[in-house]
Amino acid sequence: MNLSPNNNKPLISDATLPRPIHSTAAFGKAANAICLTFDDGPDPVYTPAILDVLGAYRAKATFFVLGQAAEEYPDLVQRIVAEGHTIGNHTYSHPNPWFMSEDIARQEVTKTSDIIERIAGVRPRWFRPPYGRLRFAMRQQATLDNMTTVLWNRSVIDWGLLGNASGIRNRMERIEAGDIVLMHDGQREHNRPDNLLRYLPGFLASLPGRSLHTWSLDGIYNH
Ligand SMILES: [Zn+2]
Repeated sequence: MNLSPNNNKPLISDATLPRPIHSTAAFGKAANAICLTFDDGPDPVYTPAILDVLGAYRAKATFFVLGQAAEEYPDLVQRIVAEGHTIGNHTYSHPNPWFMSEDIARQEVTKTSDIIERIAGVRPRWFRPPYGRLRFAMRQQATLDNMTTVLWNRSVIDWGLLGNASGIRNRMERIEAGDIVLMHDGQREHNRPDNLLRYLPGFLASLPGRSLHTWSLDGIYNH
């Protein structure tokens, strides 16, 4: 990696930064693939419940964890990896990417990868910024830390006023091949993993009939 002589800031411009991934089309293979992603955990109540459901249907997913929560619940991070799912980096404390110094923005990214590696023995290769907000310093740091930024092309909106069980169910039924789906296992802010869980088993049960197959991001990347 080239470093500038003055301040050790890496020389990656916005133009040369890899584009974020939005759908499985980025991987160019694995037809009928969907990638389910769960953000803001690990959570002591909902992460184990979601892992149990995924396991029952042999589904694979990706968990974009917060460094702070990973430190608090390391056993859940280890369980996610042990059960064949992928861990992604969702920053340390879920700050609004616009409202912090550049140095802190970078630390939020790197510190979280360090924590995940310490706990799970694997360094994440996927990064998702809080609220999907693409602050350059964070994306650049993610690239320097060998991560690809992953957003989504479909959200089940499992939060806030729209995050009721029937609304989540309707949106899950529209999931189709190629989707990277935004969901939440963490309880922060107005997330509703409780409502998500009500239809997750039914949704996973419906996938074989719809010829859809779940992949973790590592799984589809290495396929
Ligand atoms: Zn989040």
